[in-house]
Amino acid sequence: MLEKVIGKYGEANTYVISDHGEAIIIDPQSDYEQILWKVKKYAVKGIVATHGHSDHIGGIAELAVELQVPVMVSPAEQSFLTPLDQSKLPFLLKPIREGDVIQVGMQQWQVIDTPGHSPGGISLYSKEEKILICGDALFQGSIGRTDIHGSNWEVLRQTLREKIFTLPAETTAYPGHGPETTLEKELTENPYMDWIFEKRTPN
Ligand SMILES: [Zn+2]
Repeated sequence: MLEKVIGKYGEANTYVISDHGEAIIIDPQSDYEQILWKVKKYAVKGIVATHGHSDHIGGIAELAVELQVPVMVSPAEQSFLTPLDQSKLPFLLKPIREGDVIQVGMQQWQVIDTPGHSPGGISLYSKEEKILICGDALFQGSIGRTDIHGSNWEVLRQTLREKIFTLPAETTAYPGHGPETTLEKELTENPYMDWIFEKRTPN
């Protein structure tokens, strides 16, 4: 099951994936008490950060300490999470990379590198569930910003073309902000598709 938690501060979408009593938390925004309430019936295995931007990780430290679980994040993104001495972090950082599989109950969630909006952005994909949790790489009707520190339009374009839109069109994408969508819908309706597939730049 995939549940969305929207915090009272209106930051990023937090997702909880659960199966057979186990769960993982993805992108915990700072309203962590609501997330804790949502996961209290599960054995939480870890917290995944699709990337390290502040609106996606506001509740990460509180949840990791409270639940005693590791924080899974791409090595290229760890600097966002560890501005201070890493050895003094109150929780365990577990690097995840493309090809890793996160088991939740009977479900297997594949880690896919989806950089561009940020240098170490990752997505989680389940072929069986037909779900992609894509962070800020893709949104309904839009794509991630590439005008901020560490972002790169060419890299994001390659991610979208080679990593995301090569998945089955019926896949439902759950982005870091806004409503879910399907790849099929974005392929036909997203105004950035021409730029992504025809090498034109947005400007
Ligand atoms: Zn972001």
